[in-house]
Amino acid sequence: MTITKKVYVLSASAGGYRVLFTAAQSIYRTFGIECRVSSLTKVPSLSGVYFPDLLRLLVLTQEPYEVCQEKVLIVNVRRLEHRKEEVFFSRLFKETAFILGRSIGLEACDKPDCLMFQTEKLPDLDRKGIRLCDVCAIEKDKLLRSLIS
Ligand SMILES: [Zn+2]
Repeated sequence: MTITKKVYVLSASAGGYRVLFTAAQSIYRTFGIECRVSSLTKVPSLSGVYFPDLLRLLVLTQEPYEVCQEKVLIVNVRRLEHRKEEVFFSRLFKETAFILGRSIGLEACDKPDCLMFQTEKLPDLDRKGIRLCDVCAIEKDKLLRSLIS
């Protein structure tokens, strides 16, 4: 299955390229969707932004940010910080996949080790896995097929 639409990942002062690439890697590994990455110093005005191949625009930001556009997703990076870098990047990977998953129609999963398990607290986020369970993986393929057809 080839998905020609892309997720645009934008970092607004939310760290360097490793932050962008971790988010892009999460999306590619979990959903097989390619990303375009870009880094800016602040969140631009997003009204009127249009790319023909845009599936979603994912904004990584340090500040709480309100949007009301269906295709724009926000990941608040500050909330995920940890003194150990690998913990932070693991949280970012999981959070990015979860948010994109929800936005394409995947339900939250009740298996605590599935990537689509909804976590309120960071220790639960740290405990869950970096992969979709079999049920969610099948559902994901179905949803992606309907998105591209
Ligand atoms: Zn699941």
